[in-house]
Amino acid sequence: MARRNTAFWLLGVAGLLAAAGPGMSAERRMISIAIHGGAGSMNAGQLGADGGAEYRAGLAEALDAGYAVLEAGGSSLDAVATAVRLLEDNPLFNAGRGAVLTHEGEAELDASIMDGRHLRAGAVAGIRHIRNPIDLARRVMEASPHVMLFGSGAEEFAIEQGFSLVPNSWFQTPLRREQLDRVLSGRAQPRNELQGLGTVGAVAIDRNGNLAAATSTGGMTGKRWGRVGDSPIIGAGTYANNASCAVSATGHGEYFIRSVVAYDICALVEYRGWSLERAVREVIHRKLEERGGDGGVIAIDRAGGVVMEFNSDGMFRAMRDSRGRRSIAILREPPDYDRD
Ligand code: ASP
Repeated sequence: MARRNTAFWLLGVAGLLAAAGPGMSAERRMISIAIHGGAGSMNAGQLGADGGAEYRAGLAEALDAGYAVLEAGGSSLDAVATAVRLLEDNPLFNAGRGAVLTHEGEAELDASIMDGRHLRAGAVAGIRHIRNPIDLARRVMEASPHVMLFGSGAEEFAIEQGFSLVPNSWFQTPLRREQLDRVLSGRAQPRNELQGLGTVGAVAIDRNGNLAAATSTGGMTGKRWGRVGDSPIIGAGTYANNASCAVSATGHGEYFIRSVVAYDICALVEYRGWSLERAVREVIHRKLEERGGDGGVIAIDRAGGVVMEFNSDGMFRAMRDSRGRRSIAILREPPDYDRD
């Protein structure tokens, strides 16, 4: 009898340990999220006397919403989708509502998402009537046998999946129209004014150590002929792999596609064993810069370390982690972990 009790007791303890084990280690694991709202030419004057307070508020809202998902034990996929969706709905950024306009004066949206755990990915391009392209990209990943859908076909799939359509005018804002006029009349270059920037993205790691990345954009002002940039291209604008890192990019898309930026960074981490920071610096400051490409990335490694780096004047960016760090920045400024 005594022996049987001991055996039950041992089984009970083993059961408790088995149940608590993964949970306990997950509790200790770092969670972190980083987001961006575009990189390019910008200066303090363009940001105004308040230093771009509206942009900072938009970043803060998306950052904290994404972080709250992680903190509640949610997945990195849910966290990046949540953050990107809010940035898409914010007309200040070049994604979803407030996206830059094509040569014909319409919005054409691109987005992608990647799950670093299973290397699943979904992407859409040339979207004109779906309010949150990031949600459609995720649906492509989860409910279709494909990775990327384009234009009217993608919207046909969206309708089958129960998405509702919005008129293209829903995305268009007066600011973007004025900016398109300036670009078409030769008074401005697409990437040379603040209003031309604003692609959005997010990377995150959750309590289970799973990495995810997401990116969404209206592309470049005045684009024609169905031009698609790097943002929906897996490996160029977006990449996540639990074996190395998660990356979301922003910048002159043609250069990012040719340099396969997001994958190149993760490949340096995985195959060379480089730190994320070294890999990002190599790709953004050496390779891209030598080739003439401007822009930057946000990235997270397997340990939850965040890198936010750019070779342009500035990048709207923010990060938060479970070590209590929280930073929001636009130009080259020291991290303000304690300020926000
Ligand atoms: N990478 C985007 C594109 O080329 C634009 C940007 O990030 O500003 O479409």
